Amino acid sequence: MPLRLAIVGRPNVGKSTLFNRLAGKKLAIVDDRPGVTRDRRFGTGRIGDIDLELIDTAGFEDVTDDSLEARMRAQTELAIDECDVALFVIDSRDGVTAMDEVFAEILRKRDKPVILAANKAEGKKGDDGVNEAFALGLGEPIAISAEHGEGMADLYAAVSALN
Ligand code: GDP
Ligand code: MG
Repeated sequence: MPLRLAIVGRPNVGKSTLFNRLAGKKLAIVDDRPGVTRDRRFGTGRIGDIDLELIDTAGFEDVTDDSLEARMRAQTELAIDECDVALFVIDSRDGVTAMDEVFAEILRKRDKPVILAANKAEGKKGDDGVNEAFALGLGEPIAISAEHGEGMADLYAAVSALN
């Protein structure tokens, strides 16, 4: 049985980049149902020896009106309900933002294990943000670079500890 892993977090932190890395390829949108479900993308992937069913929360890029937060919240809650583990991504270069706090609150209210990943951590620019992320109260942040493939062994260790 694959582990269902939902990748959640605010726009632009690198969720889709991580999705594509774990999937090992770029995947087309496979779900075209209307409404919030349209915003989620499904695929299969693998980390180490663990098979994954991936859920990417995507599709906010075109949203400019004030329904953004409500839609993000709705699809994030759906993704959390559908998964075995939520992978919460923040941007370590930005540090913890107000919108990250909103997501952390949603995650703390749900009874699903959470892995916290501080992305864009290649080089030194992310160090402060990684440390700041401890304050989210979601465990030890894992420093990764989805773009450069760094931190994947630590991410694997965190996933396999839950599996
Ligand atoms: P999403 O909106 O959370 O799905 O974010 P995307 O995956 O679309 O990435 C948003 C931007 O961050 C893109 O320009 C990516 O190239 C960039 N990005 C993603 N991962 C990394 C990373 O590990 N390091 C850096 N420096 N940029 C990244
Ligand atoms: Mg995306």
